[in-house]
Amino acid sequence: MAIDDTPSSFFAPWPDRLRHAAIILLTAGLALTVLVTLGELPPVPAAAVFALIAAAALVPWRHDPATSPDDVRTADPIEAAAVNAIVAGMPDPAVLLDRAGRVIHLNAAAAQLAPALRKNELAQFALRSPEIVTALREAIATALPRRATYLDQVPVDRWMELVITPVSVPTRFGGADKCMLMTFHDLTPLRRVEEMRADFVANASHELRTPLAALSGFIDTLQGPAKEDPKARERFLSIMHAQATRMARLIDDLLSLSRVELSAHVRPDTLVDLEPIIRQVVDGLEPLARERQVEIEVDLPEPPITIAGDREELLRLFENLIENALKYGASGGRIIVSLTTASSGDGTPEYRIMVRDFGPGIAPEHLPRLTERFYRVDVGDSRAQGGTGLGLSLVKHIVARHRGRLLIESVPRNGATFTACFPQVRPTTTV
Ligand code: ADP
Repeated sequence: MAIDDTPSSFFAPWPDRLRHAAIILLTAGLALTVLVTLGELPPVPAAAVFALIAAAALVPWRHDPATSPDDVRTADPIEAAAVNAIVAGMPDPAVLLDRAGRVIHLNAAAAQLAPALRKNELAQFALRSPEIVTALREAIATALPRRATYLDQVPVDRWMELVITPVSVPTRFGGADKCMLMTFHDLTPLRRVEEMRADFVANASHELRTPLAALSGFIDTLQGPAKEDPKARERFLSIMHAQATRMARLIDDLLSLSRVELSAHVRPDTLVDLEPIIRQVVDGLEPLARERQVEIEVDLPEPPITIAGDREELLRLFENLIENALKYGASGGRIIVSLTTASSGDGTPEYRIMVRDFGPGIAPEHLPRLTERFYRVDVGDSRAQGGTGLGLSLVKHIVARHRGRLLIESVPRNGATFTACFPQVRPTTTV
């Protein structure tokens, strides 16, 4: 098999050479047998002549002045342009090696992944990761498929998987030669999702375990020391009620989040008017605003404010934003809910609904992480306010499903502004 500029027949395997020389050996054998039979040639010289012809026919070289090295290369099926094109066309980094581990073809992605890889050179020298070298050595020794995962640290940390698949490639003389196809797959996104899922389960269980532990603690107390104490019983039952409410809210938020995520790819197609939705949320939160001594100012244009949306999800979205402003920005004494029209980055006209409070605001380092699940600036404060840490994550998903954007701005000690932007729709029928 050829992997360098030497004519490929030099390395042709023995079965190939035999097949190639078969007709010469057969003709020579027949002619000599006839001569010996007719008594024209004694058997010993005849055998010597046959041995010479056989040796000449099987000598592993071939020189055809009409054939340039390039022609020879193209004539070899392994070196053929089609094989090169297939390797080049593979979406992942791919390298075809001969059975000794020398590079025959590699695509651009592989050259980018391992710039030291060179055609006709041993791949082991270019791929330094011990996992790759071991897998390659084993694949060469056993001619069996091998897999390896490793951490590629240059230029950035990436988890990669290497798959080595032995492939049979036809040779020029009709035989087959074992080559190895190495493909690399970037597992980083998959790992990230796995890590996120594991984090999510850990966080959710932790959030549920805390109120659950409180509940079972109070149940024990009510069954034991506080059994005959009606005053303590009343107090504990009200704490238990609050803890049960917190668990119910958490489960509610988790279910809403998973519902929105499941339908993330389906854009709502019902036309809705945002004005009554926002008014309904504000009316519903009036008691909380009174309790916190906050005034809600609503500054909306004449309806309809039409977008393609899901009414229930939009109610949830504004409820979260306005309730957060009431809970965390209460010290400012007022919040403003207003609407402006503007163009998004790509020129699409959009409605921007702003919920602005005048509370303590949020430090800049927290802003990029606010929409992560369970992220809170102050866990104790959030819990005390009955928060689950899922509200803004839910808001982000709802906005995304509506093909909109969520903007968060804050000046510490001067409040925070959460802006939900939605693409505008020409007003027709609304529900
Ligand atoms: P929570 O259930 O804790 O309210 P959210 O996802 O709604 O969860 O909010 C995440 C965190 O963002 C809150 O815990 C709070 O620290 C912060 N936050 C949200 N809105 C405001 C706001 N208007 N002003 C100050 N901090 C806020």
